[in-house]
Amino acid sequence: MTPRYDAIVVGGGAIGLSSAWRMARAGMEVAVVDPEPGRGASWVAAGMLGPVSEVHYGEEGLLALTMASARRWPSFAAELEADTGSDIGYRTTGTLVVDVDDGDRAWSEDLFRFQCSLGLEVERLSSRRVRELEPAVAPGVRSGLLVKGDHQVQTRRFVSALLAAAAKRGVTFHHQPATAVDVDGAPGTAGGATVRGVHCDGTQLGAPVVVLAAGCWSGSLAGLPDGVVPPVRPVKGQILRLSGDAERPLLGRSVRGLVQGASVYLVPRADGTLVVGATMEEQGFDTTVTAGAVYELLRDARRVVPGVTELALIEARAGLRPGSPDNAPLVGATTVDGLLLATGHYRNGILLSPLTADTVAALAAGHEPPAEMAPFRPTRFATAPS
Ligand SMILES: Cc1cc2nc3c(=O)[nH]c(=O)nc-3n(C[C@H](O)[C@H](O)[C@H](O)COP(=O)(O)OP(=O)(O)OC[C@H]3O[C@@H](n4cnc5c(N)ncnc54)[C@H](O)[C@@H]3O)c2cc1C
Repeated sequence: MTPRYDAIVVGGGAIGLSSAWRMARAGMEVAVVDPEPGRGASWVAAGMLGPVSEVHYGEEGLLALTMASARRWPSFAAELEADTGSDIGYRTTGTLVVDVDDGDRAWSEDLFRFQCSLGLEVERLSSRRVRELEPAVAPGVRSGLLVKGDHQVQTRRFVSALLAAAAKRGVTFHHQPATAVDVDGAPGTAGGATVRGVHCDGTQLGAPVVVLAAGCWSGSLAGLPDGVVPPVRPVKGQILRLSGDAERPLLGRSVRGLVQGASVYLVPRADGTLVVGATMEEQGFDTTVTAGAVYELLRDARRVVPGVTELALIEARAGLRPGSPDNAPLVGATTVDGLLLATGHYRNGILLSPLTADTVAALAAGHEPPAEMAPFRPTRFATAPS
């Protein structure tokens, strides 16, 4: 296969597009292969950049990664906006976490202690203070946590800007699915294995570097040797968009609530739109929007911010997060020379786009990648070839 490009990226979601843009910016000749770039989970995501309010027990290692990527967001957003001249809706208004009843309050106290033990910047708020900050929050809310450092981006503007920035930097788009990765040799044998390119319907594209960034579909391409197939799976998320008044927005910052053990979030956009999400479901590749999910999301959102019921429901959608066995991404080199993985970003793919893209661009150019990504090498899941 004759190399036509320096690198081919399979998958044009936030991860693949960020990586392609960064590589092209560094002067590489790059192609993105995707039948519908920009329309995967990244199009559906809420856009919270919330490493602190999203922290989970047992995921302290992931926290170091998400914090490192959050630190890259301001310059990443500025560079993307400078490349495209568009506003991607990066907002630094912070996140409020509230609890609705006594059981939920115990959870939020626990979360606060955990966040403090990790040295994270969080402020505990009384119910009164919560309502001073966000008057639309329900009077019954018990208490809250203010996380000033958790930000947000308008995901659709972000993805559209990435498409434009990549095109402007000379990235070629092939609007078709990749069917197989072309690998010469086998890992673990004399001579090893080397990637040669990608097969699409009726086309073969050659490159010495292939980045597999097809989200939850990353494990479905033919040609990947045993032990290299990424163990990713779809985790369904249903999410709603409501339209409000841009002049008199219901909320000034993102609000996350725990309502009788169920988590719900409300993310206000500058144009008055309010995003309400999201379910977490193991349903395979199903993207049906169910009446039950819409009902439960609105029921819980209403307990946190009663005024949501006054807004118009403009969209209900389901997306598929690329889940991995340890909820952390797989980013880096594989046992096939030239084949890089950038997948498995699960709940944090938007947040992790800057650090992932910089890692991919460094590896593709033969440079040292950011150290924070080292624990998330894909080879941590590698099994011996059968
Ligand atoms: C409801 C919901 C809310 C979320 N909220 C947030 C949030 O607030 N913050 C956050 O950081 N993350 C959030 N996420 C997670 C985030 O959306 C994902 O982690 C991220 O979008 C993954 O990006 P990706 O580029 O890997 O995958 P995707 O965006 O899914 O892109 C994969 C691409 O691969 C393409 N593809 C598939 N098969 C092939 C093939 N054979 N050949 C070529 N291309 C192919 C698809 O067409 C698609 O464009 C949310 C997810 C959901 C579902």
